[in-house]
Amino acid sequence: MNDATLLIVDDNRDNLFIMTQLIQNFLPECGVLTATSAEEGLEIAARRCPDGALVDVQMPGMDGLEMCRRLKERAATAHLPVILITAHRADPDLKARGLDSGADDFITRPIDNQELVARVRVMLRIRRAESRLRDMNSRLSEMVAQKTLELRQALVESQQAREKVDTILRCVSDGLLVTDAQDRVVLMNHAAEELLGVRLLEVATLPVAEALGPLPHGSELMAALAGRKGGVRFDFARIEDGAARDIEGKTSVIEGPAGELHGMILSFSDVTLDRELSRMKSEFISTAAHELRTPLTSIQGFSEVLLTREDIPASDRRRYLRYIHQNTATLVNLVRDLLDLSRIEAGQALCLEKKPCTLDVLVKQYYDSYRARYPRHRFELSLPEPVPCLQVDPGKIGQVLENLLSNAVKYSPEGGEVKIQAELDQGRCRISVSDQGIGMTPEQAGKACEKFYRVDNSTTAVEGTGLGLSIVKHVVEAHGGEMRIESEPARGTRFSFTVPLHPQSP
Ligand code: ADP
Repeated sequence: MNDATLLIVDDNRDNLFIMTQLIQNFLPECGVLTATSAEEGLEIAARRCPDGALVDVQMPGMDGLEMCRRLKERAATAHLPVILITAHRADPDLKARGLDSGADDFITRPIDNQELVARVRVMLRIRRAESRLRDMNSRLSEMVAQKTLELRQALVESQQAREKVDTILRCVSDGLLVTDAQDRVVLMNHAAEELLGVRLLEVATLPVAEALGPLPHGSELMAALAGRKGGVRFDFARIEDGAARDIEGKTSVIEGPAGELHGMILSFSDVTLDRELSRMKSEFISTAAHELRTPLTSIQGFSEVLLTREDIPASDRRRYLRYIHQNTATLVNLVRDLLDLSRIEAGQALCLEKKPCTLDVLVKQYYDSYRARYPRHRFELSLPEPVPCLQVDPGKIGQVLENLLSNAVKYSPEGGEVKIQAELDQGRCRISVSDQGIGMTPEQAGKACEKFYRVDNSTTAVEGTGLGLSIVKHVVEAHGGEMRIESEPARGTRFSFTVPLHPQSP
């Protein structure tokens, strides 16, 4: 196996023979390929990839210069070093053209054997160094390409990871604020911006105390930050559009691998609604206890009198029994409301037993009963002609009417007119109950159907649990209907709701 291969091209076979001998004698590690024309030389060079070429310039047909140019043009042989062999005392112009064609060296005839061998040796050494360099270069390029690929991949992965973190931060409903070791704001998610009323762009890099500004009851938060301790709970309020928002939060610390402090995370949530709900619930419990106790006391008192005294006149006895009966009805209604609400709360749909019922039959019984019970009020009933037939659960719609009528009476303590009206409204029947009572502000009317909601007791001074309308709304919606409240303080209120008509209704 030869270390290198040399291509010798000369149209003169004697020259070829001599040079081959010379190379084999002095460079035994070098193999020799020969060609007697430039065309043959080009073909061998392309096929065998020699390490160098000795090319005679003067050859018939394609000369050595042209062959050299073609070798340098082709990618496969572009790096092949070429020594041109020129005639004795070659003119400078030929040398210039030789260099122009890409030749690496010249040698002139008559050839000095030692010089030829020396030049070939140098050429092969340079060739070897060059090819090593090329190898290293291509290995380097491969490594660079590989590293570039890895870097690009790492960049994509880090971008994806960042997007993931961003998405998580955006989706977390709690507000998150991150500070660095110097207590400066470095990150805030959208929820925190919304809760704290500041934008990250405006406060990034500001000390957190400055970023948040003065906060009502904010001392706990500042102490938690100064303490640089995780798991500390704090509470503060924020005034927004004149209303206070209760905000609750907790600290966490960001520690490095050696336990050094890198910053803190503050998480916040708005607990205004929760606190309002728990306030309403406790108020409800005391109201419900009161609502239960009043009729129970009355039942207990009258039944005791009936049990212990024999001498009660028949008319009083009847009156006492009527009180007991009325108070029992109040208790039954209250317990029914509580049970309905707990069913609704548990996510159970109201079970309706719909059947055809004529509007006047349904409404009249409540109208008559209220007219008899509340003589201070003027009751009016106005129904469309012909009277429509409804497809409803009469018990449940009765419960709605009962609730609305009892509110109309309760919240018009001075008496006045209570009107029950009905009209056809886009293929449904709209029933309304209106009074001339204390009315509500738009804000109070907007909340009236929320469970446990009661307009401040001190102003209404009327007993109730705040459950009736929330049940009314559920019943109406279970019938596919819609409820409206029109109210004006000191002028009165009109509740109306729609119910389905029976398909064959007139
Ligand atoms: P309550 O048992 O307190 O009457 P409701 O759910 O029936 O509970 O009503 C909720 C609140 O809506 C009441 O506390 C009252 O403040 C207000 N409200 C209801 N009906 C009327 C009305 N006709 N006029 C004025 N305010 C009313």
